[in-house]
Amino acid sequence: MLVNMKEILYDAKKKGYGVPAANAWNESTIKAVIAAAEEKHSPVILALYPEMADILAFGEVAVPLAARAAVPVVVHLDHGQEFVDAVKAVRAGFTSLMVDRSMASFEQNVFEVREIVKFAHSLDISVEAELGHVGKGTEYEETKNIGLTNTEEAKKFVQATDVDCLAVAVGTSHGQYAGTPELHFDLLKQLNEIVPVPLVLHGCSGTGDENLQKAIKLGIRKLNLYTDLDQAGLAAAKAAFAESAKTSMFSSLDDMLRGYREKLGYYMQLFGSAARV
Ligand SMILES: [Zn+2]
Repeated sequence: MLVNMKEILYDAKKKGYGVPAANAWNESTIKAVIAAAEEKHSPVILALYPEMADILAFGEVAVPLAARAAVPVVVHLDHGQEFVDAVKAVRAGFTSLMVDRSMASFEQNVFEVREIVKFAHSLDISVEAELGHVGKGTEYEETKNIGLTNTEEAKKFVQATDVDCLAVAVGTSHGQYAGTPELHFDLLKQLNEIVPVPLVLHGCSGTGDENLQKAIKLGIRKLNLYTDLDQAGLAAAKAAFAESAKTSMFSSLDDMLRGYREKLGYYMQLFGSAARV
């Protein structure tokens, strides 16, 4: 069933588990995400990063598949950085939007997020914003202590914008880490005490199972995944190639999707979202 993010993240907050948000970009990966969720009886967030596919075309495929799913599925725009991205996602039937203005000033971030929240809420669409900035893993050593979320600002930001969930910068990073992830759990704990809405962690790939489970204990409810799923798909295809000297593209794609799906299922167990629906 097609739902917005508020419905599943508030249940996760109440019961103390995390929900994976997986980047998908075409019919095969959308189906792999939904299949993993159905196998594990887990809610899931199907997230489109706009550089990976056309927003309108993605919605045409994802929305009907999500609606037919046996479990709650959110169709979510990941890192919508332009106003037009939000408009396209609404037109395409997405149930959730991330409005990423984390590189703008606090005031500008509040202003732009609030404008989108107003129209999104009138359509029952949930909104995620980011405060502080989660950077790139390749620059981790130089940037890991830059742009961490400020607790007082986070409280003000949520009040001023009425967002449904907030992505925080507490030491994770997008893509593969150059270095060892160092999470600021004290900061996360403080943020969870002061911010009333569910918290979101970007850059979960490569962060480590123990760190992710601890982050969930301290209030993270949505965990963004791409690189680990991508690499698991690639590894599954390579292993299948080595074993059987594959001769068709068709079966190789199946191996990749199986690897991607199984890794996502693994995270559903780890995050505690499995067997919830
Ligand atoms: Zn992100």
